[in-house]
Amino acid sequence: MADTRRPVAVVTGGSRGIGRAVVNRLAADGFDVAFCYRSRPDAAAKVVAEAGAAGATVVAHRADVSAAHEARALVAVAEARLGPLSTLVTCAGVVRDRPLARMSDQDWDEVIRTNLDGTYHVCRAAALALMRHGGGCILTLSSVAAAHGSAGQSNYAASKAGIVGFTTSLARELGRFGVRSNVVAPGLIDTDMTAELPGAAKASILDRIPLRRPGSPEEVADLVSFLASDRARYINGQVIGVDGGLIL
Ligand code: NDP
Repeated sequence: MADTRRPVAVVTGGSRGIGRAVVNRLAADGFDVAFCYRSRPDAAAKVVAEAGAAGATVVAHRADVSAAHEARALVAVAEARLGPLSTLVTCAGVVRDRPLARMSDQDWDEVIRTNLDGTYHVCRAAALALMRHGGGCILTLSSVAAAHGSAGQSNYAASKAGIVGFTTSLARELGRFGVRSNVVAPGLIDTDMTAELPGAAKASILDRIPLRRPGSPEEVADLVSFLASDRARYINGQVIGVDGGLIL
């Protein structure tokens, strides 16, 4: 008998910004989705309602990805509620922008623990599940800052460069188990994260974008949707930008 179950995706940081658009897009694509948030249950509840309207089962779970046991619990809850995992998208991330001379150890640690350790924790839990089920897809969120640096964001750029090395290693390790691993590298995207940027900094970035505008979370979700689909079945170990040409 044909398997009529919907594929299952886990999205970290799905309550706001890019993660929210990814949850909505994957739900519209036919996935059931479990996502985590850290501190805003109100925002998470809205995403459950809007993504659920597409007919998907959508589960919000509070988990801080920087804690290994919470990341493991997220994957376990997703599988218990929705079934075998097929796709992971790691969107949870933070910035603590400061020039190096004024950066505190706490600024450094929070960014590395959330962005890099958090990606590791969730991927580790999900990779075991994906290998058990005979394959799937891992998508991590990096940034143009990984390859090109960003003044005042050395902690953030280091975390995002780490994600590139980490994910391409997974592509080599897990490919033989049918698991594809790719990196999405956005430029300037209109979310709460970039709303914190000082006006002059934002204007200077916009000036360098050939398309002369920031991207939307939905434009990043379009790329995620493609990479998570069977149309991308031979794409593995790539870093794919969605930045309006910012890095040219
Ligand atoms: P937002 O600040 O808009 O949203 C961040 C999301 O991550 C929220 O859902 C937040 O949940 C969640 N989150 C933060 N920390 C944790 C944690 N420790 N555990 C679990 N969830 C957490 O960010 P964006 O949507 O802008 O960014 C999404 C990703 O894309 C990030 O990795 C970011 O680095 C990357 N990116 C963004 C760019 C941009 O221009 N916006 C550019 C390049 C990359 P809660 O609200 O509950 O805390």
